[in-house]
Amino acid sequence: MAKPREIWVLPEINGSDAEISKLSLGLLSEAKSIAESVGGTVTALVLGDQTPDYSVVLGQYGVSSAYVFNDPALKYFSAGAYSAALLAKMQEDKPWLLLMGHAAVGRELAPRLAALLETGLVSNCARIDLSHPESPRFYRFVYGDQLYQEVVFQAAPTTMLVTMDPRVLNITPVARTGKVRTQLIEPELSPGSIRVKHLDFFPADFQTVDVAEADTIIAAGMGAVTDELLPLVEELAGLIEGSIGTTRPVIDEGKIPRERMIGQTGKVVSPEFYMALGISGATHHVGGIQDSGKIVSINRDPRAPIFQNSDVGAAADLRDILPKLIERIRRAKSNGEIL
Ligand SMILES: Cc1cc2nc3c(=O)[nH]c(=O)nc-3n(C[C@H](O)[C@H](O)[C@H](O)COP(=O)(O)OP(=O)(O)OC[C@H]3O[C@@H](n4cnc5c(N)ncnc54)[C@H](O)[C@@H]3O)c2cc1C
Repeated sequence: MAKPREIWVLPEINGSDAEISKLSLGLLSEAKSIAESVGGTVTALVLGDQTPDYSVVLGQYGVSSAYVFNDPALKYFSAGAYSAALLAKMQEDKPWLLLMGHAAVGRELAPRLAALLETGLVSNCARIDLSHPESPRFYRFVYGDQLYQEVVFQAAPTTMLVTMDPRVLNITPVARTGKVRTQLIEPELSPGSIRVKHLDFFPADFQTVDVAEADTIIAAGMGAVTDELLPLVEELAGLIEGSIGTTRPVIDEGKIPRERMIGQTGKVVSPEFYMALGISGATHHVGGIQDSGKIVSINRDPRAPIFQNSDVGAAADLRDILPKLIERIRRAKSNGEIL
């Protein structure tokens, strides 16, 4: 019987709370879906120094085995140390596919590994066509997301390396949690070969954190970015330590930077709290917020579609309600009702 295709995934661990990042939960979900299409298995690669046991959460995303690489040099991400640790195992096991997120770790590590393994890399992949698993087709956005580029490996490589576009990843735990077989690997890393040293760690600033990783998002649509309202939106976000998100037309007007756009062609977000201010709720936008915890919307049009996707909705004019809301939160903070 043919060996199942092995899909290896490198989840990123948040420096702040040592949890697997949301992006990586999406990546594990994508890997599971690929494994189901091609009759494969998912193996997670956990790199660190005395890392916590992630087998419960990995099992919730369909991972069947995990290689835990343990070494003091792996405590913080370093492309040199990570690639040195992974190389020998990859050469030995020859997995079919290695998936990483197109984020901090994947962007730096994937090209280095591809060069060391003398293989190709599909970076920032948005879709994989597996109708012919022996020769998958990879698609990536080009020309400012206006066109797709189709990529195929000319000769079947030993391992295909792919970084996935975070915007296309959805977090979907499996229905039945499985057991994860864990193997500890102690790579022999020579300190001299690691040129980048970790000096300090700075927690993410809620104002600058990637919206895809934010726990609280205040999203401002076209109804909330007038000269009068945008400063109030920023004030509200500051008060509740919310990251600012937005919609496509706001980006097109240049009022909020592009990397804050949420939706089908923007980022897919999964905060615990999402507040939509002056957003109509077009499917292109709503497609990016469905993994959010609580969704609260304010729109002056009671028929705005956003209300159909909200846990709490207020049909009100932001010019009336925002100053009152800010004042109320300020008071509650100074009374110690909320922190
Ligand atoms: C191919 C394609 C891809 C797209 N991808 C995305 C995407 O990824 N993300 C995205 O967001 N959009 C995307 N769009 C655009 C999307 O279709 C909508 O046009 C967009 O989401 C609407 O943005 P909006 O809600 O900010 O603006 P509008 O639709 O103009 O809505 C503004 C809302 O504000 C309310 N409002 C106005 N003034 C006030 C006030 N004073 N108080 C309270 N409420 C007020 C109005 O009632 C209205 O509902 C895409 C479109 C296309 C064609």
